[in-house]
Amino acid sequence: MKHELPVESRVISLIRQLQEAGFEAYIVGGAIRDLLLGRTPKDYDVSTSATPEEVRSVFGRRSARIIGKRFRLVHVQFGGELFEVSTFRQAPDASASGSRRHGEELPEHLILSDNSFGTAEEDAWRRDFTVNALFYDPVRSELIDFTGQGIDDIRNQVVRAIGKPQLRFEEDPVRMLRALKLVGQYDFALDAATENALFAALPLIRHAAPSRLSLELEKILSSSYGDRHLQAFHDYGLLEYFLPELEHAWGTPAAEYALNLLNERNCRVAEGLYRNSISLAMATVALPFVELECDRGPGELWEDNPVASAAIRVVLDRIFLPQTMMNRMTESAVRVLSLQTQLIDPETVEDSLFESKSYAHARELLLIRTAVAEEDVAEAERLWPAAARRRGGRSGRRRSRRR
Ligand code: ATP
Ligand code: MG
Repeated sequence: MKHELPVESRVISLIRQLQEAGFEAYIVGGAIRDLLLGRTPKDYDVSTSATPEEVRSVFGRRSARIIGKRFRLVHVQFGGELFEVSTFRQAPDASASGSRRHGEELPEHLILSDNSFGTAEEDAWRRDFTVNALFYDPVRSELIDFTGQGIDDIRNQVVRAIGKPQLRFEEDPVRMLRALKLVGQYDFALDAATENALFAALPLIRHAAPSRLSLELEKILSSSYGDRHLQAFHDYGLLEYFLPELEHAWGTPAAEYALNLLNERNCRVAEGLYRNSISLAMATVALPFVELECDRGPGELWEDNPVASAAIRVVLDRIFLPQTMMNRMTESAVRVLSLQTQLIDPETVEDSLFESKSYAHARELLLIRTAVAEEDVAEAERLWPAAARRRGGRSGRRRSRRR
């Protein structure tokens, strides 16, 4: 079907280059979903008939790097941007699934490798949800809905698993998380069969590869919709398996405060004021629980002493360790939290504070706390100047804004 979508010109050039080399190439996945919803895509995924080696020869060895094992794809540096280019896949056969990983007995249908190449149509059918299975050729302005339901489901805001939902979640439990991210992010609803299968398959999330769950957590924390994703996980009972500490605290004043802080951070990221730092997101979620650990209520900050320093680490580990965050992020979150007790009086602080590696994020958290407490953000910004090369936060009195 002919359909004009406002695709970035760089992506059109990349697709054209593959097509001129004799291959089929389409934009696929989230970008088409987002464009049809009238949103700006976060990034573009490209799918092609070229094998990873052929993609490399089209773009040159310097610009194209093959990555992944379970799912081999090519990272192509093109026009100053990084694109994921994957080869059309067919549904993995039974021999690629099931059995054991590191001695652990795994469910029968779990997919461990997904590298059998196929046609564009086969590639659409092995994708997770109809709304994620649309193909778009931006050179010919051609939109292809192989499942026949993707466009309607986007229109009706429905998340529908392709094929048998139960099997699709058993093959790859991370798909449950992906379904609920769509629910949280776009206010989509699960179709009834997908919903029933999800409830039945939830405990299987334990069998998902830890590295993939950690990657999902990083994506959630760096996105500007993380608070909505976590809400959907809680609503459907997934949070218990994903971040149990947060689930247990859900509904308490500390958890409410944590979500307000994360929401405020996300609004600032969505408005382009703050970078999407994962460590800042971790710090916003953890701060109320550090206060609690130090016998303080929401917004009461702790006193700077060795007990509080220890509490910061304990709390970060308790909340995020189920998904092993990268050490670098945790260390940065520790510094952001530790600096909060120093951002009290700008007259008495050492100048070196402003030079500190984590000052920018620590200041951002201070401003987020100030906004959530409905105090004077403009005044706080004046007192705590942004490092010279950073853009400062905007003034205003806000609370729990929705995007
Ligand atoms: P986002 O906007 O977060 O990037 P996305 O849907 O593009 O959303 P990606 O992780 O970039 O998510 O995946 C690109 C596409 O690959 C998806 O839209 C979907 O078609 C397919 N896909 C990703 N993960 C899976 C999976 N676990 N099972 C089947 N298909 C998947
Ligand atoms: Mg994507």
